[in-house]
Amino acid sequence: MMAESHSESTSESLTTTSSTSPDQSATITISTPRRSHHHVPEIPIEIISEEEMAILDAAFAATRSFLPSAIRSSPSRIRSITMLSKRKLSACSSDIEDSLLHRFRKNQALGVTDLTGTEWCEKQMENVLCLGRRKVSKAMKLGQARHLELEEEVVKRVRVKVESNEDKWALKLLSSIAAVNQFLFEGRTRELLLVGFVGGQWIVGVIDEVRKASTEDSSDTGPLLSDTKTRVRDTLPAEPQRRNGRLQVMLYKLLWDTVVKEEFPSTRFFNYFALNRHEVLSQDVRDNIADAGIPAQTLEEIVRYYESTFKMLPVANDQLLLRYEFQKDRSIIAEIRFTHDPEWVMSKYKEVIEFWRSEREAEYTPEEERWKCRYCQFAKSCPGNPSLESPPATSSPPREPRSLAS
Ligand code: SF4
Repeated sequence: MMAESHSESTSESLTTTSSTSPDQSATITISTPRRSHHHVPEIPIEIISEEEMAILDAAFAATRSFLPSAIRSSPSRIRSITMLSKRKLSACSSDIEDSLLHRFRKNQALGVTDLTGTEWCEKQMENVLCLGRRKVSKAMKLGQARHLELEEEVVKRVRVKVESNEDKWALKLLSSIAAVNQFLFEGRTRELLLVGFVGGQWIVGVIDEVRKASTEDSSDTGPLLSDTKTRVRDTLPAEPQRRNGRLQVMLYKLLWDTVVKEEFPSTRFFNYFALNRHEVLSQDVRDNIADAGIPAQTLEEIVRYYESTFKMLPVANDQLLLRYEFQKDRSIIAEIRFTHDPEWVMSKYKEVIEFWRSEREAEYTPEEERWKCRYCQFAKSCPGNPSLESPPATSSPPREPRSLAS
């Protein structure tokens, strides 16, 4: 278990995305905003995210050739580690000089879920990258289905044929432009994809919900960013999970503010993602772009629209929102409002980027949070798991009832 399931990793979308390669024609799912009583232009929204692609790539990483393990640990645990080495020769060997970023996210943006997963436990993230993620649990599937349902309240899915990476990126950026338009016309949008260059690194995030702030929300008029977590239990999760959720929404604000305030480094964008700015997009994609009222033939033109669209927007509200929903009856367990903390989020961001750049060894989750190990797919072989050689404790992570909701 990392944090609760959320919208950036739907198994359905993973399957769809996996069929798309730069050399082959493929069909991907996009969505159009649903009509409301307000007039809203019919603009396609693409919901396949770079984050989803990144997660898929992590799963594929498990199938890559494994190299001898060089895991370090105390002598008392050597036996278990040796067993691990025999069972799954680690591709995360410190003999490999290339960074995790370069090995597992080459020409890709880091997803916000990559960053929050790293904050949960760096060692777990490293193992996921090198050994693969276990299958999606029933609870995660339910959470994903719920996110899809919430999304479909405001958007309608359609399918578009893509023939190149330029096509895929054009649709992604078009989806962002469409979501911004929906926000401007209706005051709310969901699943808004954002890509930006933050502190020297390309980051992609799919913001669960963006809506205009009311006077009850805040005196600040900036758009209110929020995320909904679905819960199997009718309780708030432990503080480390709530912290992870706060980090996620603060990262969305960091990304949003960067995109609206700073110049979009388009040359860097085309170079990093290995995209041809002048390539004429496929007919299907151009048709969708034309339907959206945008006269663009190439990715470069769409990039310019993306940049100018976000330049019209204010920075996000300093107040952020995390909503916890009970899976069984969809009642709200809690709505937690909190204030953006720019110093804290930047320090966490730097820590996580150091890990991805392999500037230091991956760390186990802190001692006081080792209860996470009981829910970890690597618990049976991880030297950081305190129960590796003793029976697991029966206690559970601290949970808090609904009454503590702020
Ligand atoms: S067993 Fe614990 S320390 Fe090891 S990877 Fe899992 S959560 Fe992290």
